[in-house]
Amino acid sequence: MMTAHPWRPYVLLVLAISIPLLLFESLFSHLIFVNRARPRIKRFAELPLRFRYDGTFKILQVADMHFGNGKATRCKDVLDSEFEWCSDLNTTRFLRRMIEAERPDLIAFTGDNIFGPSATDAAESLFRAFAPAMESMIPWAAILGNHDQESSMNREELMSLVSLMDYSVSQVNPPSAGGTMRIEGFGNYHIKVHGAPGSGLDNTSILNLYFLDSGDRVVVSGRKTYGWIRESQLNWVHSISQQSQLQVESQSLSPALAFFHIPIPEVRDLWFKKIKGTFQEYVACSFVNSGVLNTLVSMRDVKAVFFGHDHLNDFCGELNHISVCYGGGFGYHAYGRAGWPRRARVIKAELRKGSKTWMGIQNILTWKRIDDERLTKIDDQVLWSHADDEEEDSSHSQKDV
Ligand SMILES: [Zn+2]
Repeated sequence: MMTAHPWRPYVLLVLAISIPLLLFESLFSHLIFVNRARPRIKRFAELPLRFRYDGTFKILQVADMHFGNGKATRCKDVLDSEFEWCSDLNTTRFLRRMIEAERPDLIAFTGDNIFGPSATDAAESLFRAFAPAMESMIPWAAILGNHDQESSMNREELMSLVSLMDYSVSQVNPPSAGGTMRIEGFGNYHIKVHGAPGSGLDNTSILNLYFLDSGDRVVVSGRKTYGWIRESQLNWVHSISQQSQLQVESQSLSPALAFFHIPIPEVRDLWFKKIKGTFQEYVACSFVNSGVLNTLVSMRDVKAVFFGHDHLNDFCGELNHISVCYGGGFGYHAYGRAGWPRRARVIKAELRKGSKTWMGIQNILTWKRIDDERLTKIDDQVLWSHADDEEEDSSHSQKDV
């Protein structure tokens, strides 16, 4: 006998197979396909960086965020009244407020961006730590400290990822390093800042920024010490400085700023000298002196150096006519001092006005803001002025500059 619906058993069979499959897919697919989002390319910052129409260029230095896992990562060394609700999210909030208050042209993260031992997944922690910078669409540059690699990624992997993040202008190493010039470390690169639009210097780098990897920890002759900037890195930065100076047609050099994480041994001498800011912690640097200061002095273009590492120091001093400055501890999961607010440094370069247009750099200024209700501005100072170089040059020769 013919049935009324001969197709019915087939339909039931298809349903019997497909319903469990669909259920399985909807319940477990997120476990099988780790990331269902479509891969997309990095959002690039507009390069070269350049001065604004108003003749200024501003950098926000963020030292030692020590980011962990976000909300679950508690603060260290805060007042009892602050502790209960305090986490990595306070670091994020502080960064958002600083960006909002200063609207910098570049954000420079000078290492210990994440605190490896507290970050379950290094990549995740990096994305969370740098999220405010990426959201702001402001170009940003980062180097590593001595704690970044203490989680699930090594230093090369970390710098590769950092270089691929949205609006990051960081590089693992300069392109030349893969050729004849081998360079140690990861995160040595040069960022150019061109003159103001329409000024005639818009195709020239009038401010050079050198980022250097100062390493993490090393055992030297059986003794454990902090890392330092190696000879290969110093040779590279010296050659870059010479090349960039050749490209400047005017007689005066284009000033440069250098950024690294671990201070150099000579910073200890500033205990006995005039400084602006607070010196309340021993300078924890390598006992190896690789000649960083001598190299920077011989380059002549570096006017100021910025580092982090010692969270309780936030001063600027001067060594052989180069300003050296701590950023001051920024992150809430980093060690600090309860009642001594977290802080950040701002660096601003101003151009001098010619008869018709902007010329080269007139002043390099700095100040800090502390993470209080009003982001109070402190320790405003001039780090370098064009006039300083004129004085120095005229003492060497009678030539007009
Ligand atoms: Zn640190």
